[in-house]
Amino acid sequence: MTKRLTGFQPTGNLHLGNLLGAMRPLVAAQEEPGGSIAMIADLHAMTMEHEPAALRKGTLDVATLLLAAGVDPGRTELIAQSQIPEHTELHYLLECTTAYGEAARMIQFKEKSARGGPVRLSLLTYPVLMAADILVHNAHEVPVGDDQNQHLELTRALATRFNARYGETFVVPEGVRPESAARIMDLADPVRKMSKSSATAAGRIGLLDPPEVIRRTISRAVTDTVGIVRHDPENQPGVTNLLAILAESTGERPGAYTSYGALKRDVTEAVDALLAPIRKRYAELADDPGYVREILAEGKAKVRPAALATVRRARAALGLLD
Ligand code: ATP
Ligand code: MG
Repeated sequence: MTKRLTGFQPTGNLHLGNLLGAMRPLVAAQEEPGGSIAMIADLHAMTMEHEPAALRKGTLDVATLLLAAGVDPGRTELIAQSQIPEHTELHYLLECTTAYGEAARMIQFKEKSARGGPVRLSLLTYPVLMAADILVHNAHEVPVGDDQNQHLELTRALATRFNARYGETFVVPEGVRPESAARIMDLADPVRKMSKSSATAAGRIGLLDPPEVIRRTISRAVTDTVGIVRHDPENQPGVTNLLAILAESTGERPGAYTSYGALKRDVTEAVDALLAPIRKRYAELADDPGYVREILAEGKAKVRPAALATVRRARAALGLLD
């Protein structure tokens, strides 16, 4: 049975890229056999400087937004990473099978550690924790964007090596591209992907942005001086991104446009239609944070027995007493 695991870091407001690239594929996968785990990666959010109150709120917000966007707790286990201690236990066991150099050559570590300021040790070991998250749940498939390819390869290498050296213990997971593999780009700087952590909000459409903010953000989206609406990622990344957002939001191929203004108007309308029901459902759910916490507790109860069994196998294989 194929089991999938998708992670979301509570590092800021979820945006349109998260919705189209990860949340919608997760909801669509609920129609397929096997089941998914949606994990809120609160421990990963502590690899960079963080505010405790923002982390607590962010974790509940992400859980609430996932539910608002259609994650069905009957079919998808919704969990908070830190509430399942087997993640961190397996993390340490895997650290003992990972070389320093393997972690230090990760591109994301190199990039984030070069930004200046103190570098947390957990930033270096974060891909090993990610490997533990995947392996502890025996996930077969991990939907990954380009930014996570290298980390998934490390997970596969660690699992394969562990199995060969200490005996068959882990499922070796496959990275899969989500079907609607839309990589939504930053509206103010369309050669970079839309990110929670980018410096300014000008390029980002938050899932809870009110309609007037959505309209303003899209109307200010960077385009070009070519003056023709066409798909040309190389020379017209901004216009191409708007076309992709339109196609993904409506589920239809965009028609022909004679002006950027007309395109932007339709993008605004489509994004608004996509986000309005999510905003509404979020408001209902946010009224009852006890409910969201209950869902997380249920998710934990469901996934824990299998996670415990994996850790026990790994402990025994490594020679630890039971
Ligand atoms: P951060 O800047 O903190 O890394 P992020 O915006 O990259 O935030 P993540 O929590 O790292 O978001 O990723 C959550 C999920 O959303 C992942 O599956 C990731 O591949 C997907 N995702 C993130 N950004 C985009 C984007 N611009 N387009 C499509 N998918 C995206
Ligand atoms: Mg990211």
